Amino acid sequence: MGNESSPAASAILTLDLAALAENWRRLCRLAEGAEVAAVVKANGYGIGAAPVAKALRAAGCRSFFVAHASEGLTLRRTLPDADIYVLHGLLPGEEPAAQAAGLIATLNDLPQIDICAALGRRGRPLPAALHIDTGMTRLGLSEPDVHELARNPARLAGLDLRLVMSHLACSEEDGNPMNPRQLAEFERLRALLPAAPASLANSAGIFLGPPYRFEMVRAGVALYGANPLERGVNPMVQVVHLQGRILQTRRVDSPRTVGYGATHLADRSARIATVGVGYADGYPRSLGNRGFAHVGSQRVPVVGRVSMDLITLDVTRLPADAAEPGTLVDLMGGNVDIDELAVAAGTNTYELLTRLGPRYRRIYTGGPHDA
Ligand SMILES: *Cc1c(COP(=O)(O)O)cnc(C)c1O
Repeated sequence: MGNESSPAASAILTLDLAALAENWRRLCRLAEGAEVAAVVKANGYGIGAAPVAKALRAAGCRSFFVAHASEGLTLRRTLPDADIYVLHGLLPGEEPAAQAAGLIATLNDLPQIDICAALGRRGRPLPAALHIDTGMTRLGLSEPDVHELARNPARLAGLDLRLVMSHLACSEEDGNPMNPRQLAEFERLRALLPAAPASLANSAGIFLGPPYRFEMVRAGVALYGANPLERGVNPMVQVVHLQGRILQTRRVDSPRTVGYGATHLADRSARIATVGVGYADGYPRSLGNRGFAHVGSQRVPVVGRVSMDLITLDVTRLPADAAEPGTLVDLMGGNVDIDELAVAAGTNTYELLTRLGPRYRRIYTGGPHDA
């Protein structure tokens, strides 16, 4: 079995950039006038930051968010003329390179504000966002920090304040009281700061209604086709399709165990298909005896443990010729709902996507340049 350019790659990851752009347009319609920025941290949630950014920029997206400054510097090569926000802010020493690349630092504490403001006062004002913590207790300015800035607005001189933002903790739960509590907190604290466009909502936050949307929403997972809501029909289009190839199908003639730890007992007359994808490829090990795949429209269970490079499927119920070696099976996307698979794995769709491994043959379709 071949290298990455082989037509018989043992696993194929197809990423539909037209679907990605369609999801961005859907969110634009849903956001009713708020700008929809794209969150492309962690290599575009595993999909590929550069192709994602290029496709969304071509669709009209103007603002992008990454976590690390290093991600922003790399992204700048793909996006010469878009706004790139760095959520983690800047580490000491990163300021000059970030400034040269025109990155917009999201400033999360007063020392960082002082460093960047001083830098901006020496030259051109430094574009920056302020992140107020309203309930994550992770990154962001505390209430006393905001009061200090309100008392002493000169500390912001030198900054070109582009955005004031916060982040929701429970946005996928429509009725959670955290949502209105954080909204009220955000309204109250941002009123103490100089006027600037505001942003609170992530993907799910868009669906909480107009008061949550402000001037900008920051969409991540929904762009990549995950259901942003905990319940109900997924309003997004699928972007990710992972297919693994059956390497061998074993007919069991007397009861025998399958895989490491002998955790599954295959009955007499069972058929077990082995697929060339494992936990080293980001297929969660927790899906052993829990996961499922699709051979065409037929759902088949993962039996036995997930190995580093292989999984085993019980294909006993399929017609004899439907699970031959070489057959491609859906592992994520296609007939396999990624959100359902994530739940089966005991994780969320974010983790499933961001772990998509490097060994797949990656195919980008529907991009702005292959029309
Ligand atoms: C990751 C992230 C987002 C995007 O969240 P999704 O739920 O993927 O839409 C938005 N804002 C911040 C601060 C983030 O860290």
